[in-house]
Amino acid sequence: MRKKFVAGNWKMHGSLATNAALLDGVRAGVASLAAEVAVCVPYPYLDQARGALGGSNVAWGAQDVSEHAQGAYTGEVSATMLADFGCRYAIVGHSERRSYYGDTDSVVAAKFEAAMKANLVPILCVGETLDEREKNVTAAVVTRQLDAVISRCGIAALAKSIVAYEPVWAIGTGLTASPEQAQEVHALIRARVAREDAGVAAGLRILYGGSMKPGNAKELMAQPDIDGGLIGGAALVAADFIAICAAA
Ligand code: PEP
Repeated sequence: MRKKFVAGNWKMHGSLATNAALLDGVRAGVASLAAEVAVCVPYPYLDQARGALGGSNVAWGAQDVSEHAQGAYTGEVSATMLADFGCRYAIVGHSERRSYYGDTDSVVAAKFEAAMKANLVPILCVGETLDEREKNVTAAVVTRQLDAVISRCGIAALAKSIVAYEPVWAIGTGLTASPEQAQEVHALIRARVAREDAGVAAGLRILYGGSMKPGNAKELMAQPDIDGGLIGGAALVAADFIAICAAA
């Protein structure tokens, strides 16, 4: 039985003052819940997250990571630096990174590998655009994104990671994949992994992300292959994030 996992992706939001209330609220609100919970905060607030969440059952992580170990890469943050801050997770391949910052499948695979080497748990995002869904190439797109990581890092690496299926058309739009649409792609991801290793597939946690809210979380997470959520907008409101964690 896979334990449910809920991660908040704060994106580029927050301030020391607003984060303090949010972190305290989440820490207290999920203290007695069964799901595993994490928040992925902007880099400057990692220290604040560490201070506010240390000793709690909420882990913290980053929203991206450099594919390089160290060196002359101005503006980048390495996986070992994140590990130094007590990060447990790093999101890689979020659609905003893929579309605005040119993270190709091979860059995402390199970031995944860098995170693994530093003992971080990569949260690998995959998902199709609306245009790709309408052209009926969802399966091909998601498989291509997944295969880039499998061929670079090997199937055993996936056992130590988390995958998030995030249809791009549902991120921040208020449109949510129906439980059936999401389940279909989650099952496809699991089947692709099972072709390589049935054991890894059975244990792999696959999150859904894309306008998950308290009102739709329960139904989505009741699907057999949906093991939790990657939450954007609703992770900025403590009560909403806690309600989603409770649904998990
Ligand atoms: C995300 O950014 O990963 C996300 C799922 O955002 P939202 O929940 O706002 O759609």
